[in-house]
Amino acid sequence: MKVLLVGGGGREHALAWRIAGSPLLTKLWAAPGNPGIAAHAECVGIGVEDIPALVGFAREKGVELVVAGPEVPLTLGLADACAGAGIPCFGPSAAAAMLEGSKAFTKDVLDAAGAPTAAWKRFDDPDAARAYVRAQGAPIVVKADGLAAGKGVVVAETVEEAEAAVADIMESRVHGAAGASVVVEECMTGEEASFFALCDGTRAVPMAAAQDHKRVGDGDTGPNTGGMGAYSPSPAFTDAMRDEVMARVVEPTLAEMARRGAPFRGVLFVGLMLTATGPRVIEFNVRFGDPECQVLMMRLQSDLLPALLAAARGDLSGVSLEWSDDPALVVVVAARGYPGAVAKGEPISGLDRAAAVPGARVFHAGTARGADGAVVSAGGRVLGVAATAGNLQAARDAAYAAVDALDWPGGFCRRDIAHRAL
Ligand code: ATP
Repeated sequence: MKVLLVGGGGREHALAWRIAGSPLLTKLWAAPGNPGIAAHAECVGIGVEDIPALVGFAREKGVELVVAGPEVPLTLGLADACAGAGIPCFGPSAAAAMLEGSKAFTKDVLDAAGAPTAAWKRFDDPDAARAYVRAQGAPIVVKADGLAAGKGVVVAETVEEAEAAVADIMESRVHGAAGASVVVEECMTGEEASFFALCDGTRAVPMAAAQDHKRVGDGDTGPNTGGMGAYSPSPAFTDAMRDEVMARVVEPTLAEMARRGAPFRGVLFVGLMLTATGPRVIEFNVRFGDPECQVLMMRLQSDLLPALLAAARGDLSGVSLEWSDDPALVVVVAARGYPGAVAKGEPISGLDRAAAVPGARVFHAGTARGADGAVVSAGGRVLGVAATAGNLQAARDAAYAAVDALDWPGGFCRRDIAHRAL
């Protein structure tokens, strides 16, 4: 089978590695890919936002499955354009990708599906939002309705803080058009976990859960990032919770999306708060998390490619996925300064030494080839150094041994990934 993978981060490197291992694969392209992905795929210089070029390439090459890594091409209609060209696409239509693009839409779907989530209200008028905040009291959560790169959410400890968030989002428009309306939510407490399910529009196959670390600094301090590390399974997320989330969240959400004429195909990423009264939904994403995808792929034992194709074709019946019980952990190595401005083009060596650590594997995220062909840094999050072993502590030790085998003075990582679980 000929496959086009869209994306060029650590998530896509992990997917490329698994897809390339499938006996069904005849040819894999990645757009745009990266130097790590290039070990498994032919990389083509098409950006993830250039939908006509992606679909044109897929047509020209006779691609039989397009796999979307990030959400951006999906919100821009990649799956719709593939459908128009008769090419199966793993990832939802633009209409179904609204589950990531609008918080109010998601909350509305969750309520219609009867899924457990925080009580909420949406406001287009800042005065009405402030009045509601005062009536509810603190702590309370204020969110810009649209996408704000992880920065549009304020968990306010006081009413004043919440009112200030309403003003910043709706009046000062610190997140631009994403703040035309706000969602004000009940504050939930507990540990957070991410659960993933493959969906074909009506059916879902459970994948696994992971936990990640969003803050840049050890001890979960400092600014939010795209994710500095992750581990799977999540010890806090039990099999009973998985069954409950499948029955009370994933399946009713699929039914509600189908009822709305926007059936969801692809991977549903369920962001959960594990509260004292059970798991409750914080958010959905319409693609794999990064770096969570890297630890899922480290644990996956089944052939990924037929499962992705079945989801894309709308028939997951008979598909199930096997997971290793051995935990996997990934440490993100970022360029100094991240999540702020970073230097690029710094040579990175020791990649082979790192990959030689037993159980370890290095995924490329923001890397490029320098003029001499050497791997250089090219982004904020640069490498995902993953490992799997018989227990989480051993996986962590292997991942950090691999990190320490790298030679890149301009890089840094957190030293405490999985501290909650250990
Ligand atoms: P953006 O849209 O800006 O990219 P996001 O999609 O990351 O943001 P959410 O996942 O909804 O936004 O929220 C981000 C974080 O805020 C969550 O991971 C969680 O820690 C916290 N949070 C969100 N909603 C609640 C809630 N109702 N109660 C407690 N904490 C919450």
